[in-house]
Amino acid sequence: MNAIATNPTTVTGGRTRLVIGNWKMHGNLADNAALLAALRPATLTARIAVCVPFPYLAQAAEALKGSAVTWGAQDVSVHAQGAYTGEVSAPMLKDFGCAWVLVGHSERRSMHAESDQLVADKAKAALAAGVTPVVCVGESLAERDAGQAVAVIQRQLAPVLALGAQAVCQMVIAYEPVWAIGTGRTASPEQAQEVHAAIRAALDGIGAGGIQILYGGSVKGANAASLFSMPDIDGALVGGASLVADEFLRIAA
Ligand code: PEP
Repeated sequence: MNAIATNPTTVTGGRTRLVIGNWKMHGNLADNAALLAALRPATLTARIAVCVPFPYLAQAAEALKGSAVTWGAQDVSVHAQGAYTGEVSAPMLKDFGCAWVLVGHSERRSMHAESDQLVADKAKAALAAGVTPVVCVGESLAERDAGQAVAVIQRQLAPVLALGAQAVCQMVIAYEPVWAIGTGRTASPEQAQEVHAAIRAALDGIGAGGIQILYGGSVKGANAASLFSMPDIDGALVGGASLVADEFLRIAA
């Protein structure tokens, strides 16, 4: 991982505020170059990172080298190597200097039928290679309306927590209600805090309550501060707004 040159603010519990951009399947060499260059000189209160599509990892590594901005990927195989056509392993991510990898993003859970156990296995594979997994969890609108939000998150987290405190203490959790991703409809700070507190309690239950819990779902410069004012919201996982340098930097300012 490259050196951290900023002086990030610690939030409740001494945790460092962390803002990670998820570029999803967006970008091209020219646009990425401009976006990455705009992030480099930033002096921010939060640590920032970008999770880019696999083909652009080398570009991110080169463009961000020596800066305070770290980078990562959006998925990883459970296997370290072998006959797994199309897969990308955690040691490969490590080769490209990845500090982070998203696992269990709702788009992968829904479009690629990723199970809770597979997500935990991916987190384990990332840790084994020295890459920090950002484990994404979140309920659908139907599940929220049925009063099941916390129960769904607890179910999704169960195989992750079963990896034990030593492993979980090296992870980051991102709470991303599915109904808030890319919809412009953000969870209110109180709605998000309620779930974050439940996640914290579950983590506390295994002695891993000190890790960062990020909120994701239509986070923008205009709503970040109110979300970050909540005691268990330690930063954000940002999709759409991470593609616009000024907006992303405003979130992390
Ligand atoms: C995401 O993709 O993880 C996300 C939170 O997207 P958006 O910020 O666009 O809602």
